[in-house]
Amino acid sequence: MSKVFILSEIKEGKIKQSSLEIVSASQKAGNETIALVLGNNSATASAELFHAGAKKVYYCEDALLKIYSPEIFQKTALSLIKKENPEIILAAHTPTGKDLLPRIAIELGTGCAADCSSLKFEGNKISVKKPLYAGKALVEIEFCGSGPICATLRPNSLGNPEINTTLSGNAESCNIEGASESKIKLIDLVKGTSERPDVTEASTVISGGRSLKSAENFALLESCADVLGAAVGASRAAVDAGFRPHRDQVGQTGKVVSPSLYIACGISGAIQHLAGMRTSKTIVAINTDPEAPIFQVADYGIVGDLFTLVPLLTEELKKLK
Ligand SMILES: Cc1cc2nc3c(=O)[nH]c(=O)nc-3n(C[C@H](O)[C@H](O)[C@H](O)COP(=O)(O)OP(=O)(O)OC[C@H]3O[C@@H](n4cnc5c(N)ncnc54)[C@H](O)[C@@H]3O)c2cc1C
Repeated sequence: MSKVFILSEIKEGKIKQSSLEIVSASQKAGNETIALVLGNNSATASAELFHAGAKKVYYCEDALLKIYSPEIFQKTALSLIKKENPEIILAAHTPTGKDLLPRIAIELGTGCAADCSSLKFEGNKISVKKPLYAGKALVEIEFCGSGPICATLRPNSLGNPEINTTLSGNAESCNIEGASESKIKLIDLVKGTSERPDVTEASTVISGGRSLKSAENFALLESCADVLGAAVGASRAAVDAGFRPHRDQVGQTGKVVSPSLYIACGISGAIQHLAGMRTSKTIVAINTDPEAPIFQVADYGIVGDLFTLVPLLTEELKKLK
């Protein structure tokens, strides 16, 4: 059993699924699990961390924490980490997690394994696996040395969190640190217009490629995504053609996703696209070309025209609902 400190995140008043996943995995392994949440509504949202198995939760609702501020988050987390002295510090591999945890690791004089796609607790250590060479290989990392172990975990890589709403605890309020010496001041957060989940966080992603031919034709994927509660992704060719915004791009120069289900529609499966989605649990590919490389990584492949197949799929999924 280890003492595990988890840097959790809050979005629109709720703890992110990617944070709950880590808390739940730590609790299931029998660790003493401590979570930190900073930001608006964090006092109320602490309950979600207890439901996922946290034994102790620190929160802070200072107005300066409304938007992620690297130095303030770093200093505040660091003071609690020094107080708790955990063996392991974890965060989700999100824009915040991948910025914050390496900053903390540097201050602690230790390393940080980033973008891990699996995690195993072993005694008071962990071993993690992370993809290399655009996902073509997996490397297993063991931690040596004396400092605390730090790792960021790819969202959706640890499975659904186990939630038990009868679990509770008393969250402890903490003070922010480092506000006066902070060199960065974040003024505003400009939200994207999409109401859909982000491709990196969604448990289902349906993506389209160049073959969609226009931005309007992505409505086919949107309808299917509505039924599935999915995010809509795109290949770089579709983004470069202006069919989708860059925030939806999956791949080496886009976002890395690891959903439970990834549906690739009219995407050839170039290595740079695979780099962003090949750790998805189940991959379904729809393509007119039976030789398309995407079929080499797909669990289920359908050779056919997406303009016929996607509406059929949507109708069948509606019936199942
Ligand atoms: C440095 C670098 C970085 C890159 N980063 C990325 C990245 O992050 N993400 C990314 O995606 N790409 C990236 N690329 C581009 C990548 O190499 C490919 O060019 C791109 O992924 C191709 O997109 P596509 O599959 O949509 O298009 P295409 O390769 O043109 O494939 C279209 C596919 O649709 C199929 N098709 C056609 N019509 C239909 C139909 N009606 N129904 C079903 N199937 C149909 C075709 O058989 C074909 O397989 C990068 C390239 C470079 C050099």
